Amino acid sequence: MSEKLYKCECCHREFDEEEYQMTLDKNKCIFHCRKNLNNNWLVNEIYEKNYHLQDDYENAKVRWNQHYIRLFWKKFIDDLSVQQNDIEIENYIFPIYWILQYQHDSILNTIKDKKIRFNNCVFLDYIFLENQKIEKVEIKRFSFINGCKFKKSINFDGLNFIDGITILNSNFENKLNFFNCNFNYLFEIVNSCLNELNLINIKTQKSIEINYNLEKSFNLNIYSVNINELKISGNNLNDLMFQSSKIKKLHIDDNHHKLINYIFNKIEISEKSEIDNLILDNVKVNEYLLLDTYLKEKSTMIKSKFAKTFFNNIKFSGITDFSEAEFSDNVNFKLCLFGEVLFRKTKFLKGLDFSNSSFYKRNIFLGIEVNTTNRETARIIKNSFEQQNNIIEANKFYALEMKEREKELSWKNDFFEKLIFSFHGLSSNHSQNWLLPIFWIVFFGLLNSYFQPLNFYTMNYVDVLYKEFFVGL
Ligand SMILES: [Zn+2]
Repeated sequence: MSEKLYKCECCHREFDEEEYQMTLDKNKCIFHCRKNLNNNWLVNEIYEKNYHLQDDYENAKVRWNQHYIRLFWKKFIDDLSVQQNDIEIENYIFPIYWILQYQHDSILNTIKDKKIRFNNCVFLDYIFLENQKIEKVEIKRFSFINGCKFKKSINFDGLNFIDGITILNSNFENKLNFFNCNFNYLFEIVNSCLNELNLINIKTQKSIEINYNLEKSFNLNIYSVNINELKISGNNLNDLMFQSSKIKKLHIDDNHHKLINYIFNKIEISEKSEIDNLILDNVKVNEYLLLDTYLKEKSTMIKSKFAKTFFNNIKFSGITDFSEAEFSDNVNFKLCLFGEVLFRKTKFLKGLDFSNSSFYKRNIFLGIEVNTTNRETARIIKNSFEQQNNIIEANKFYALEMKEREKELSWKNDFFEKLIFSFHGLSSNHSQNWLLPIFWIVFFGLLNSYFQPLNFYTMNYVDVLYKEFFVGL
């Protein structure tokens, strides 16, 4: 008598009694069955109370039925190895996967050179697909599409994706990490729900696109990467951090109709990052940090709005464009070196400080609005206008420079200089107000005539007119 066989309603694969004992579901195979405490896949619940406190990798291992897990991955490898290179995996429910368990090397060997599409799969626990050898393992292509769900962190480490990777309409409840991976083709994450995305030590000659991931706000951390082009467009992004990274073209925007008036919490570029082309397209940022960074060719931050800013040790080489940008808090460009820079119609609603910056090329300040500044900053802006023969604008900043100089002087230590500056300010607002000197001439003229003794014999009719009119005689 032949052994009783069951048939999976998802993949129509027949399975035997032994497999049925693991699934406890006559209509679901080992790949498609639910995996929980009831059918003995789990020893401890994944989502117990206060779980986050002890939710680490080591704890995760022991909550699974080790025997079942081993069998699952063995069957998975066996199944993949007999398939063609283009594989579709649909509606699978995956248990935990971690390194050096379940014939780890063989899984990397099996998926090597294959294109695998995960369609609407659930990953219940950690997936750590890691290659610890120096030489990267080549994978043709991975796609996660159509509602894949990742309940815990997923790590890809030491892999070389020949044809890139696509993540589309998927849900990550925890971290998505790529460490030490290369992408020889497009790497894209589109229309997905992310929690935290970490790209660490990544190399790509092509582009990475992170677009329209809107469902939940997420953080993006990029460390020590070498990327040709990175486009971050229309995402519900909270914090965005780049450290020690080389990027040829970096484009960040909030271009999605669901993100009207969207404000990024923080954008940080730091730790010797080098960016050839930086485009911040009309974005609003609560905290914008540029620290120890080299912006090589072109940086445009046109029409962007920044609240708090921290600029320190930045080389703005090439062309930098802050046109029509708005800074609502004090801005101090500390130790910044500017090439050609445009501050056309830029608004500094509080203070602006260039006193620790150097400008070595043409700079445009036309239409700049500055609330308060220091003398050196006013002098730099004045010099720029003078070089362009814009005397009217230059004079405005000359007056500002003089006012700031006057503030620096004290009556105690610089009495005469302070006196001269005060007099200059009082008499003509540092040559800016031509009505003021006229006012003073008329004022003193009147004062003089008021105190002159009344002598009708020597008075001419103009004197009489004045006295009648102003003094009421
Ligand atoms: Zn099945």
